[in-house]
Amino acid sequence: MAEITVIGAGYVGLVTAAGLAELEHNVTCVEINAARIAMLERNQLPIYEPGLDRLVARHRMSGHLRFTSDYATSVPQAEFVFVAVGTPPTPAGAADTRYVFAAVRSVLQYAQPGTVIVVKSTVPVGTGDAIAELVRSHGMETVSNPEFLREGTAVRDFLEPDRIVIGASHPSLAASVARLYASLAAPVVSCARRSAELAKYAANAFLATRISFINEMSVICDQVDADIEEVARVIGMDQRIGPAFLNAGLGWGGSCFPKDLMALADIAASNGAEALITSAVAEVNRRQRHRAVDRLVKGVAHVPRPQVGVLGLAFKPHTDDIREAPALDIIARLQARGVSVRAHDPLAAANAHGLLPEVEYDENPYDVARGSHALLLATEWPDYLTLNWRRMHTLMAGDLILDGRNVLDAQYLTSLGFIYASFGRATGSEPEEVWTDLAEDAS
Ligand code: NAD
Repeated sequence: MAEITVIGAGYVGLVTAAGLAELEHNVTCVEINAARIAMLERNQLPIYEPGLDRLVARHRMSGHLRFTSDYATSVPQAEFVFVAVGTPPTPAGAADTRYVFAAVRSVLQYAQPGTVIVVKSTVPVGTGDAIAELVRSHGMETVSNPEFLREGTAVRDFLEPDRIVIGASHPSLAASVARLYASLAAPVVSCARRSAELAKYAANAFLATRISFINEMSVICDQVDADIEEVARVIGMDQRIGPAFLNAGLGWGGSCFPKDLMALADIAASNGAEALITSAVAEVNRRQRHRAVDRLVKGVAHVPRPQVGVLGLAFKPHTDDIREAPALDIIARLQARGVSVRAHDPLAAANAHGLLPEVEYDENPYDVARGSHALLLATEWPDYLTLNWRRMHTLMAGDLILDGRNVLDAQYLTSLGFIYASFGRATGSEPEEVWTDLAEDAS
C-alpha cells in the first residue's frame, strides 16, 4: 500500500484517485476549483462517469480516499504524486502546460525528497524533462504515465487497461511505479519518458485517423452508391486492420482528440517535422460537420421559419462532457444560417446551456420532435434507439431525419414516412437534390 496524492479532480484525476484507492492505496485528491471541492464534500461528483459514484463512495467509507484543496496537508506524506490537471489548447494549438507546472510548483513547496511525480496529464514531448530539471534539486524524480481511459467507460478502462505505460529515466524508477498497479492484469510497458509522452498523442491521432478514414470512405460511398457498413465490415475482417473505430458519421469530438491532434501538429512543427496525416484527419472531421449542416439546411430550405431538433449534445454517449462535441458546432452553424434549434440530451443539456443559450432544451426527445422540420441524431444514446419513432414522426412538422451516427433502422423509419439520411449507408431515402453541390459546400 502506498501513500498517493492525485492533483486534479476532473475526469482523469477522479477516476485515477478512486481507481488507486480500489487498488488499496491511501489516496488524497487535491482540487483547486472551490465549486468542485464543495460538491465532493457534499458527496456529489462534479462530473458524470458510470460507476464512479459507487467507487468514490466505497473508498471514502473505507478511508482509502479523501478530497481536499490543501496542498500543505496532503503532499508531505505522499510517496507518489499523480498530476492529472488539464492541458487545454493555447490559441495557437499547442498544449498549454501551465496548469501542470503550477501543480508541480505547488507540490515542490511541501513534498519530501524521494517523492515521485507521476504525470498522467497528456503533455508535449520534453515536458517530463523540464519537470525532472525542476524537481531534481529537491531530491525528487518524475515519470510519464499517460492515461488511455475513455470517458463513458473510464472506471473499467482504469481497472482493466490494455496496457500501462511508464516512461522513466531508469528501470528501478519505472518498477516502483509499476508496483502501484501490481494487482492489475495488464502488461506494463516500460520505456523512455519521451516515448511515453509521444505514444499518448500517437494513440489518439491513430484512433482519430481511423474515424476520419472511414468518414472519407462514407463520402465516396454516397457518391458511388456503395454501402459504408459493408465496406467497413470487409476491411475490418482483415486481421491487420480489425473492426474497431470504423463507424462513419458526424466524426470525433471530445476533450482529447481535437486538442491532442493540434498539439501533435505543434510538437512536429516545433521540432522540425511535419504531421501531414494529422492535419488531413482534422480537416476531414471538420468537413463531416459542414456536410451535416448543409444537408439539414437544404432539407428545411422550403419552410420560412425552419426548426431542427437535435438528439444528443454530449460528444459521445454515457458522458456529460460537451467539450468539442460535434452537436454544439453544428447547432451554432445552423443558428447562424437562420435555423432555430431545440435539443435534448439525457445528461449534457445543463452543460450545453451555458454555451448555447438560444437553444430550447427539452426534457424529453418527443418535445424535440414537436414542430421540427428535420431531426439530427448527434449522439447515439441507447435510449434514442428505442424511441417510439411513429410518435416522433407524428409530432414533427417535416420528414427529414439525419442519422449522424448511422445507428437507426433506416427501413423502418422510411416505412413510417421519414426521409432517412445517413453517412454512407445505401439505405437512405434522402432525395437527390439535397445532395447537389455538397462537395463544394463542405469545403
Ligand atoms: P479536467 O478539466 O476534467 O480536470 C482537470 C482538473 O484539474 C480540474 O478540476 C481543475 O480544476 C484541476 N486543477 C487544475 N489545476 C490544478 C492545480 N494546480 N491543483 C489542483 N487541481 C487543479 O481534465 P481531464 O479531462 O481530467 O484531463 C486531464 C488530463 O488528462 C489532460 O491532460 C487530458 O488530456 C488527459 N486525458 C484526459 C482523458 C479524458 O478522457 N478526459 C483521457 C486521457 C487523458
